Amino acid sequence: MNVLVLNAGSSTLKAQLLDPEKGEPLLSMSVERIGEGGVTHESAVAQVLEKAAAHTVDAVGHRVVHGGERFMGASVIDEATEAAIEACVPLAPLHNPANLAGIRAARRALPNVPHVAVFDTAFHARLPRRAKTYAIDTAVAEKHGLRRYGFHGTSHGYVADLAAKHLGRPLAELRIVSLHLGNGASACAIELGHSTETSMGLTPLEGLVMGTRAGDIDPGALLMLLRAGLSVDELDTLLSKKSGLAGLSGAGNDLRDIERRAAEGDDRCRLAITVYTHRVRKYVGAYAAAMGGLDAVVLTAGIGENSVSMRQRILQRFDFMGLAFDEDRNADARVSHAKPVAEISGASSRVRALVVKTNEELSIGRQTAEVIAQQRPATAKVELAIPIAVSARHLHLDAASFAHLFGADAKPTRHRDISQPGQYACEEKVNLIGPRGRIDGVRLLGPLRSKNQVEVSRTDEFKLGVDAPIRDSGQVGGSAPIILEGPKGTLTLSEGLICAKRHVHMAPEDAKSFGVKDGDEIEVAITGGPRDLVFGDVLVRVSDKYKLEMHIDTDEANAAELNAGTAGELVYTGVDMARGELREKRIHRPAG
Ligand code: ADP
Repeated sequence: MNVLVLNAGSSTLKAQLLDPEKGEPLLSMSVERIGEGGVTHESAVAQVLEKAAAHTVDAVGHRVVHGGERFMGASVIDEATEAAIEACVPLAPLHNPANLAGIRAARRALPNVPHVAVFDTAFHARLPRRAKTYAIDTAVAEKHGLRRYGFHGTSHGYVADLAAKHLGRPLAELRIVSLHLGNGASACAIELGHSTETSMGLTPLEGLVMGTRAGDIDPGALLMLLRAGLSVDELDTLLSKKSGLAGLSGAGNDLRDIERRAAEGDDRCRLAITVYTHRVRKYVGAYAAAMGGLDAVVLTAGIGENSVSMRQRILQRFDFMGLAFDEDRNADARVSHAKPVAEISGASSRVRALVVKTNEELSIGRQTAEVIAQQRPATAKVELAIPIAVSARHLHLDAASFAHLFGADAKPTRHRDISQPGQYACEEKVNLIGPRGRIDGVRLLGPLRSKNQVEVSRTDEFKLGVDAPIRDSGQVGGSAPIILEGPKGTLTLSEGLICAKRHVHMAPEDAKSFGVKDGDEIEVAITGGPRDLVFGDVLVRVSDKYKLEMHIDTDEANAAELNAGTAGELVYTGVDMARGELREKRIHRPAG
């Protein structure tokens, strides 16, 4: 399959034709000066197609900067998608109109192939509330749609995937800080496969120092400038075009020039470099702290891939958190599309440091192919209803902890079987003690496991006064501490308390009929109860030991006002149920 990847800017159209399975581009070109001398997006697309005439084009993948709240993943383009991208224009007034112009021109030129939009924001679409919320009056934030979105998602997702492959571990087990350091720059905390923090916010102005953008700045400084008479447009130009490395150095935004001048003694260039690297270091430390640990730091894009000295400045003296930087490996690191990963941490370093060559075009090509492969004919409407089980707070214990809490000779006693085969609720109960409060009588589930795991709801968390991460069952590494009180002893767990991620168990044949696989994240619509509700981010867990059932916690059940007979069904977005037409299936397939 050949995918034409288009990145339409206001004055350029970058194009690559590639087979996503192979990666090597069949054609790579850029049409410049759109808007001048009669060059339009239309004529630029025509130029690209003329060059591509020797090849077939099976699909077109379009880079779109802002997908707002609407797009959690890549999406097949139809009239409704176009309208939704248009609705995001206020969020990206420079980029989305140009992206749309490219989409419209390409759809007119190639009306019979599928077009797919791939969004820079989508990788961050499920940032936790704590990370996406600005601490201002919520009424004002809601009225103006002020929240953090994040960008460079295609790149962060792609390099994290390659890093996980290089490390030989599933992305879903890793805590990675990804640093995309190009002309635009952003950091991203990728926690167990998901973006949970990123440095760009509502717009791509927040965060790191960039080529010409300021990144973080006290908003009070902006108020001061406005009061001093700067117009809004002048302020915009200052922050977007006259700041960052260019503003600090006075020597333009090309780091190579800045590094050369700094070496020659130019103090402004020296300051530009130190402000830049200091900011990146702060983010690495902050994100490691926010994730409660770190397995790898990944550097990518022009500066990350090429500047030996910037990498050294950014990653030196991180030994205290287990990252031993290796000067020689750093000096020798070269990455290319053929060999995209180079390791720059020492052989004994617990936290690994990797240089990874990004390839946004290939990632867009792959996402395009994947979205098209997920499309299914109209007849494939899924009608299996998913029973819903409300999972009350409970815990799993390992043998040693059980003995400590209930006595050396005790054995778990079966109270009753629960729905998933082989599991049972026990007679034994423990009390949870947190810094703020306690919850008594939390039931143990059997059989005993290899790790302790305590699953509570958000409401329970606030009652206990703890901050438990949302995790898949089994992912207790780096989770929250809790004290357990049993009849024979008290146990302080340094980790093990989680807020369980909602999930749906299914057998392989169910997975087949839904068209999903283990690890996918789907949406499930709850219908038939007093209140229809759609749950996003539902993890699919497939095993021949499972029977079809979705598990949600008590808070979620309360939100849906659930009663026993309620059932969920897989949600397909863009589906007109009355006509049974299936256009886009919203299944999130986390990378790795
Ligand atoms: P964009 O965001 O425009 O795609 P790039 O990823 O191409 O940006 O990164 C551009 C930045 O990378 C520029 O600041 C450039 O100076 C820097 N860069 C590229 N090559 C080198 C190099 N060999 N040494 C230092 N900096 C480099």
